[in-house]
Amino acid sequence: MTWALCFNCGATKFGAICPCPECKYGSTGDMNLDIAFRDHRFSKDTLNAFGAVVASIRRVCQDDQLRFWSFIHYVSTRHPDILGVKIAAEQRERCESIIGRANPPPVAVEESGRAKLLRDFVTRRTDGEVETEPDSGGN
Ligand SMILES: [Zn+2]
Repeated sequence: MTWALCFNCGATKFGAICPCPECKYGSTGDMNLDIAFRDHRFSKDTLNAFGAVVASIRRVCQDDQLRFWSFIHYVSTRHPDILGVKIAAEQRERCESIIGRANPPPVAVEESGRAKLLRDFVTRRTDGEVETEPDSGGN
C-alpha cells in the first residue's frame, strides 16, 4: 500500500503516479519527485500536512505551473533535507510572494516507520547528493 501526495490539489492519493481521485492530476513527469512524497518515507500525518500546504497555495494561485513550483520552493527552502531544487532567481521571488500570501500551516515532518528502519542504510548512499545551499538573506 502506497499513499502519495497530489502536488496539484494536496489530496492524498493511492499510488505515486496514479491519477488523483480529486483532480485527475497524475505524474509530475519527474519520478524522483513523484516518489519523494510517499508513505514509504513519511507518516500519513506528514503527507496530510504537506497536502495542506498545497491546498493553501491553491487558494491564492490558479496557475498550475506556478503553484507546483511554489510548493517545490516551499519544501526546498523550509525543508531542505527533503528536497533541494535550484529555481531561477526571478521564479523564486514569485514563488516566495505566493507562499507569503498562502501562509501555509507549518509542517512537522515525521518519518514513516519504514523510513526510520532504512535510514542508516540510505544515509550512507544519499549523503551529499542533495543540492542545498545556505540561503543568504532569505527568510
Ligand atoms: Zn489532486
